[in-house]
Amino acid sequence: MHIPIIDTHVHLDEISDPEGAILEARKSGLSAIIAVGSDRASNEKNLAFSKQYGGVIFPALGYHPWNITVSGVRDNLDFIEKHLPEAVAIGEIGLDFKIPLAREIQQGVFEEILGLAWKNDKPVIVHSRLSYLETYESVRKHNVKKAVFHWYSGPIDVLKDLLLMGYYISATPALIYSPKHREAVIAAPIKQILIETDAPTPYQGKVSTPAQVLQTLTELSKIKGMAIEEAVRKTTQNARDFFNLV
Ligand SMILES: [Zn+2]
Repeated sequence: MHIPIIDTHVHLDEISDPEGAILEARKSGLSAIIAVGSDRASNEKNLAFSKQYGGVIFPALGYHPWNITVSGVRDNLDFIEKHLPEAVAIGEIGLDFKIPLAREIQQGVFEEILGLAWKNDKPVIVHSRLSYLETYESVRKHNVKKAVFHWYSGPIDVLKDLLLMGYYISATPALIYSPKHREAVIAAPIKQILIETDAPTPYQGKVSTPAQVLQTLTELSKIKGMAIEEAVRKTTQNARDFFNLV
C-alpha cells in the first residue's frame, strides 16, 4: 500500500530486535511509529531511537502505572519535564486498578503529569485499565486538550462523554477477539480513532510487532464498512493531527 501508515503506540524499547522491527514496519508501509515510554530508562532508549531514526520514530515520554515506585517518582517526573521539548506526546501514563499499587499513589503521579501536559500543551496517551471513568475525569479536570484512551474497552457511557470532549480512543489487534474493545470502536467515529499495536504485547499467544498494525486496519475497515485505503488515509490524518506531525 502506498498510503503511509502510523503505528501510534509501540513499546520499542521492549522489542527484542527493534532494528529488525523497524525495517519490517517500513517494508509493510509504515511511515512512522510513536515510541511510548514507561519509565526513565525506557524514555532514554526511545529518545535515542528517535535520534537514530529521525522522521520515523517519534518519542512520547511516560511513566506507566506498572513502573511507578515511590522512590522513583521525582526522578521520573523531572526527566519527563526536562525532555518534553523533544517529545511529541506524554505517555504512557494513567491508572491501572488491576495492580496492587495504591490508587492514591497512582492518582498523585497521574495528576502531576497531566499538569505538565496542560502547562506544555502536549497530547497524552492514557492507560485506563479498570479505571475508565477515573482517568477520563482526571484528564478533563486538568483541561488537557488532546488525549487518547489507549485500547479503550470500558463502558459506552464514559466513551460517549470522552468523545464529546473531543478525545480519542485507539484500536489494537485485540479488535479481532475482544468484544468490549470492538464495541467501543464500533461506537466511536473514525475521526476520533488512532490505530496501534502496543507491540510487543502478545495477541492470541504471539508477540506482536508494529507491522501488525495492518491487522488493526483490516479489522477496523471491516467494522466501519470502508475500503482499507480509506481507513489508512483517515487514521493517518488523525495521527498527524493528534501528534502535530507534518
Ligand atoms: Zn502500552
